[in-house]
Amino acid sequence: MSAEVIDGRQVATEVVETVKEATANLIDTTGIVPGIAVVIVGEDPASQVYVRSKGKKATECGFHSETFTMPEDTSEADLLKQVEALNADPKIHCILVQLPLPGHIDEDKVIQAIAPEKDVDGFHYINVGKLGTGAIAEAFVPCTPAGSMVLIERALGTRDLSGLNAVVVGRSNIVGKPMFNLLLAGNATVTVAHSRTKNLPELAATADILVAAVGRPEMIKGDWVKPGACVIDVGINRIDAPEKGEGKTKLVGDVDYQEAAKTAGSITPVPGGVGPMTIAMLMANTLAAACREAGVEPPHY
Ligand code: NDP
Repeated sequence: MSAEVIDGRQVATEVVETVKEATANLIDTTGIVPGIAVVIVGEDPASQVYVRSKGKKATECGFHSETFTMPEDTSEADLLKQVEALNADPKIHCILVQLPLPGHIDEDKVIQAIAPEKDVDGFHYINVGKLGTGAIAEAFVPCTPAGSMVLIERALGTRDLSGLNAVVVGRSNIVGKPMFNLLLAGNATVTVAHSRTKNLPELAATADILVAAVGRPEMIKGDWVKPGACVIDVGINRIDAPEKGEGKTKLVGDVDYQEAAKTAGSITPVPGGVGPMTIAMLMANTLAAACREAGVEPPHY
């Protein structure tokens, strides 16, 4: 293995430390305490775990944090009322509605009901539009691509990606498309690939920066990777691991890590790469919202 392993846990810890310091400073100088509300509907155990860890991290950062747990049979109208109440609550700078929502609720309607200036996930059309037009400092950027961008900039040691080719595999609204916009804003020359793309291995092999956000275990092979490339594996896939014992499973990314690491210049592992950055950037986004209210420049990461 020759690639530098990009330690997402370490970078996430550094981001959270910066958030903590800046939060303490904001509170000291302005009295404004960043506030985040997390709304969860139903009992999905994985979502419960995510919500608990977000609340814990927010408290660790010095934020005001509230969690609203609503029953599975909550009506869309009641959820919208809860969102409206949080939109109007001055203690709350950011609202996160944990997805997925139960099938009887229109997710998009709920997301678009969140005030754009409190839309910490960056899914509101106003924030999508700001990111797409390059008004990044004023936008909320979805946390996973925002965290991936921090890892890319640190791995390459620069924020200016001029002259570099980037290939993003995946075109989802939460990862692929915002990743495209961030890389483009960083001056990379960006191609977005998806399930209808032809000759994907050849295309991937042109990438100085290769971002995989596909949701297919180890689909991207070692010989798709350009020597020296920075490889960011967003994928999180649980697969059977009979080698660990009967019925055991393990997490893998969208990249064949062992093979790709022989060719790449730097690469994120799964787990321990992009995953920890997502929650760190959620904290960063919440602080940024409070900084905007205070007219204070938020930290860079
Ligand atoms: P989606 O399912 O929404 O999108 C997957 C994308 O991959 C689509 O654009 C699809 O193309 C494309 N695709 C599927 N198959 C192929 C193929 N054979 N060749 C080329 N492209 C293909 O997934 P997400 O973007 O939400 O998530 C992607 C991965 O990232 C998942 O593993 C998910 O678990 C993980 N993830 C991790 C996060 C983290 O915190 N680390 C956060 C969010 C996601 P098309 O549009 O044509 O269908």
